[in-house]
Amino acid sequence: MQNPTAGPTDATRVLGAVPTDLLIDGEWAAAAEGATFAVHDPATGQELVQVADASPADGQRALDAAVAAQRDFAATSPRERYDMLMKAFELLTDRGEDLALLMTLEMGKPLAESRGEIGYAAEFFRHFAGEALRIDGGYQTAPAGGARFLVAKQPVGPCLLITPWNFPMAMGTRKIGPAIAAGCTSVVKPAAQTPLSMLALGEILLEAGVPAGVVNIVTTSHAGEVMQPLIASGRARKLSFTGSTAVGKVLLAQCAENVMRTSMELGGNAPFLVFEDADLDEAVSGAMAAKMRNMGEACTAANRIYVHRSIAQDFAARLADTMQRLRVGPGVEDGTQVGPLIDDAGRSKVVELVADATDRGARVLTGGQAPDGAGFFYPPTVLLDVPGDARMAREEIFGPVASIIPFDTEEEVVAAANDTPYGLVSYVFTNNLRRALRVAEGLESGMVGLNQGVVSNPAAPFGGIKESGLGREGGSVGIEEFLEVKYIGISV
Ligand code: NAP
Repeated sequence: MQNPTAGPTDATRVLGAVPTDLLIDGEWAAAAEGATFAVHDPATGQELVQVADASPADGQRALDAAVAAQRDFAATSPRERYDMLMKAFELLTDRGEDLALLMTLEMGKPLAESRGEIGYAAEFFRHFAGEALRIDGGYQTAPAGGARFLVAKQPVGPCLLITPWNFPMAMGTRKIGPAIAAGCTSVVKPAAQTPLSMLALGEILLEAGVPAGVVNIVTTSHAGEVMQPLIASGRARKLSFTGSTAVGKVLLAQCAENVMRTSMELGGNAPFLVFEDADLDEAVSGAMAAKMRNMGEACTAANRIYVHRSIAQDFAARLADTMQRLRVGPGVEDGTQVGPLIDDAGRSKVVELVADATDRGARVLTGGQAPDGAGFFYPPTVLLDVPGDARMAREEIFGPVASIIPFDTEEEVVAAANDTPYGLVSYVFTNNLRRALRVAEGLESGMVGLNQGVVSNPAAPFGGIKESGLGREGGSVGIEEFLEVKYIGISV
């Protein structure tokens, strides 16, 4: 397939076409007093475009629209909702090339990865279109006889959906898909750094026949001020959040006030275990996928790579060799494999974590120095002998830095892997079946990649335990997060 470099004309065209207003009740509207904020290109630091900067009053208007639309939307047939989602799937797929360019411009990832994310994002719509048709219930005779139990599922009601910048489209469709399938309306708040993908999606949803008020999109530079009153209002019935654990905790506390239902997809600190009986080539390519997808800016990124001491040098040398051959550059350029990080703060954190690890004795095998010049680039980096007390063993690196920690025994490495408040995903590479199952069962995480470096799949239940979150997205359980169970007791 062709993989052309996107030129400035393409960029001007897609930026000119994307809506920049708020989507409220099926209409595009400027924010109160015409306020706007800038969206920047992380590859250059330059402003791309201004988008509407919603005030708390704009947020309330969006929620008004979602609340007003809820009753009629809940009454639509599953087949109508299926049709909307399938149409949106087709439009996303047809416009994939432009949407990928838009994503690369605002977020920085290479075009090939943006294309991959658009495909992944669209699949959530296709998956949840099917789930809309499979919302089930039950009918049962009470154990003592006589009464009957009728169990029905109903949409939760108006939802607040908050998404992060690292997967600007897929984290949205992973929530909007099941919300629509279940019959819930929503107010969506994308990350301030990457609002354009969500705005483009808003246009697609309108074209796909999603009724006015069912999906409202609010972009803002002051998330807390706009969202807190919506949470406190008692009019929204559910908050689904993807983002950092720190913000997730703040939102959980806010939701506790009126016992609002929540789904929380939070941060990770994924351990990646390579045993001495693993296929080394497979383990290196698995580590590349788990580490380098999205430049390492993923909640699922391999944050601590534990390698059995007998193969640690060999593994590290092969990983360093592969990493140092990756091409770093603006995501829009043909052949770029590693784009810039999201912003200066993101890159500074990576610089600090690498300095901390090397101060404590880690060895740099490749990379390790941020380049001068425009954009927030950081080179693919491999560190060997990272001590367990290094900050990068405890905090999300969120950058292209592989941190290798040698280990001696299975017991020791499982204990080390679990020694974190996070529990999103773990990876295990071994060719010993008994060990594979034993270790996969022993790891405290919501997901395990067994001899594979990517676990994300719209048809699988994605989510974490411990401080990595509550609830699951995707799979057949993803829609349950947007449904209430109602039991009707019947006397016969
Ligand atoms: P973040 O700072 O927590 O922000 C996430 C979203 O929350 C953004 O839309 C943000 O808006 C909004 N927000 C921030 N403060 C808020 C508040 N007080 N009230 C309401 N909304 C608020 O996270 P991020 O830096 O965008 O994303 C990276 C994090 O997401 C990482 O920790 C990563 O692991 C996690 N993540 C988890 C998953 C998963 O599925 N488990 C997937 C992807 C990412 P602004 O942009 O305006 O600040």
